[in-house]
Amino acid sequence: MDLPPGDPAPQRCDLLVHNAYLITVNADREIYLDGALAVRGRHLVAVGRSADVRTRWRGAREIDAHGAVVHPGFIETHMHIALHGARNAINEPVRWDEQQKFYADYWSVISEEDEFVGSQLAILELVKYGATAFMDCGTTHAPDAVARASEAVGIRARLADPFLWDVGGFGGAEEDSPTVDRAPADLERSLSLLGGQLARNTDPTDLVQGHIAIIGMATCSDELTAAAKDAARRAGVTFNQHQSYCQVDVADDDTRLGRHPLVHFAELGILDAGTTFAHVNIVRDDELEAVTGTGFSVSWNPISSQMYGVGATAHGRHYQMGRRGVNLALGSDSPNYTGRFDTGAQAFQAILSSRDQALDAVALNAEDGLEMATINGARAISAESLLGSLEVGKLADFVIRRTDTLETTPVTNRVQNLIYSSRSTGIDVVVCNGVIVVAGGVSTMVDEDEVRRSAQESSSKLLARIGYQPKTIWPEIS
Ligand SMILES: [Zn+2]
Repeated sequence: MDLPPGDPAPQRCDLLVHNAYLITVNADREIYLDGALAVRGRHLVAVGRSADVRTRWRGAREIDAHGAVVHPGFIETHMHIALHGARNAINEPVRWDEQQKFYADYWSVISEEDEFVGSQLAILELVKYGATAFMDCGTTHAPDAVARASEAVGIRARLADPFLWDVGGFGGAEEDSPTVDRAPADLERSLSLLGGQLARNTDPTDLVQGHIAIIGMATCSDELTAAAKDAARRAGVTFNQHQSYCQVDVADDDTRLGRHPLVHFAELGILDAGTTFAHVNIVRDDELEAVTGTGFSVSWNPISSQMYGVGATAHGRHYQMGRRGVNLALGSDSPNYTGRFDTGAQAFQAILSSRDQALDAVALNAEDGLEMATINGARAISAESLLGSLEVGKLADFVIRRTDTLETTPVTNRVQNLIYSSRSTGIDVVVCNGVIVVAGGVSTMVDEDEVRRSAQESSSKLLARIGYQPKTIWPEIS
């Protein structure tokens, strides 16, 4: 070894990646043109210039990134993982009542095995699009099955108790809203389940953790909401619910609460840095005022909202909330609403939406997109001290992109290339918790063909059980 006298000998680490265009997303948002990082166990032990890191560290395994972009793993903050078996199953044109009925039927018959294979497919999709963590919103009957799937594919899961609600049913507060026999909207039932998933939280570096989620969207009493927020606060985890998705649930909330819902939740003391609401597509002037300075998070799901035409871009004020200190993170919702679980695509769509909302191209930019997909996501799942950026002491969750894709040629502004052109294509290597879980764009953890086969079989049987026949608008000829 050729070290200047006095320098300590290099230390051993498990994995060293060098010669990378390293986007740290650290507090100063530093980007190393020729950067490196070193991993020991589950943690990052060095991040910096390749020359410096390689002088101090030797990896049991070393990867030359050949100038490729390396960035923190994406963090997906709102999804219904159990719905993956029904991807694109709802026939168009989609009617609000019909789709809520479809979900009620689907969730009534889904088995634990269905949830396992559907979750494997969903999580495999997430990691192949560069995500290393996700937060489910508490609409799986079998969190243990999702936990197993997550550990099998090798990325982080935040799981919540199943279907905590006590007013109405799918879509809103009306008494005749469809519900799920196995999980009726009931206060006593919800309170008895509340906090069950927190038993997972013994080591914060483990892949699977619990948080607190209630369904929200006009389906939860103040008593249930307050109990849930209190449980989350005591455990130091995220409190999560749906909110203000469309005119239907907002009208229910306005009537039920006697004022606009975000004003109500601000007055209840619910909106703080430990709270994440999904969607928040409809925000009136007094609500914009109420969220200012609260530091709470919104999981913005731009594609799903636009898919269902609820006016999230035309009338939404996500950009304006972000300007007022709301932490904007990203979610994919469900495959019926959004096509696929793809956080990079959501980042791009959110930027487009912000420019419509601001009526100005000077709204969110590529760097904002990357922030929303990484460090803001970490904050939204209460894991900012461990995830979301590449810094010494944080967990080793990162992505290495390919350098040979058409959409990133020519190389110009690398961050714009990443967010506007690549979005989530060209994923080469994904590391989560120090483990290489994707290499050459392929899972190192599960047999992808087997995951697809079992998910297809489960979906076909499940749709047959509820008597649902997906059909195209154009005639299909056998
Ligand atoms: Zn949702």
